[in-house]
Amino acid sequence: MQDIKARFIESIPRTQTVTSFRFSPGQKVDFIPGQFLQVIFDESNISNRELNKYLSFSSSPAKEYIEVTKRLSESQFSQRLKSLNPGDEILLKAPLGSCVFKEEYKKICFLIGGIGITPVISILEYLTENKSETDAVLFYSNRTEEEIAFRKELDHWQSVNDKIKIVYALTDSQPKDKRCVFGRIDESLIKSRMSDLGERIVFIFGPPVMVGAMNKLCLDMGCSKDNIKTENFIGY
Ligand SMILES: Cc1cc2nc3c(=O)[nH]c(=O)nc-3n(C[C@H](O)[C@H](O)[C@H](O)COP(=O)(O)OP(=O)(O)OC[C@H]3O[C@@H](n4cnc5c(N)ncnc54)[C@H](O)[C@@H]3O)c2cc1C
Repeated sequence: MQDIKARFIESIPRTQTVTSFRFSPGQKVDFIPGQFLQVIFDESNISNRELNKYLSFSSSPAKEYIEVTKRLSESQFSQRLKSLNPGDEILLKAPLGSCVFKEEYKKICFLIGGIGITPVISILEYLTENKSETDAVLFYSNRTEEEIAFRKELDHWQSVNDKIKIVYALTDSQPKDKRCVFGRIDESLIKSRMSDLGERIVFIFGPPVMVGAMNKLCLDMGCSKDNIKTENFIGY
């Protein structure tokens, strides 16, 4: 893990509540898609949980910038992110985490709700840039179509990379778009879209409640424990 001084470049709204923040690092940052970093606003007290938080990389390692994406709240940390001006310098600690994509994974699946999409973006961008042979199926649950973050990017990658298939599941509103389905990610949805869950490495990222539910679903559906890779976004 390195200490990285990075300069804020810009913010990019993804939905009404989710925003990406891009930074220019002074040095090359080597990370593996799926990893996360720590944003440090309080350098004098590294263990300050209010001002120093973990966020996943939401860009591929090939980009010249580092991007993270936050579901913004009323917290001090969110306010500090929102008030950054271009050129402001912040401290990042990276890379962290072992729930990562590996080249040996030829068939993968993601079971994701809401903000858990951030590391998936890094992985799918990486697969597309590298013209990877890995076959990836993403089940991405949100309450409404408006809450689907990175929709434009995901649709684009699916259209240029025939190894990527995406199922948008909406829990609170009937879809207007025929590419979305109504309902939760459950056994019947998974089986209706994919016949080989047991042969895939399954990634589950997100708030602990979602991770727990998806992990149980995979085990109930007969997945081997070793094929399920989870990362809990503690702090939700
Ligand atoms: C590996 C990892 C990756 C993550 N990636 C992302 C990401 O890409 N995008 C994203 O938006 N969020 C991510 N998170 C969660 C993020 O770090 C914040 O915890 C979350 O965004 C809530 O922050 P907040 O300032 O909005 O909430 P707050 O209002 O500060 O906190 C919400 C609640 O969580 C509790 N809490 C806060 N911090 C902790 C903690 N460290 N341990 C236990 N309870 C705590 C608070 O007491 C409060 O009840 C990730 C977390 C981890 C661990």
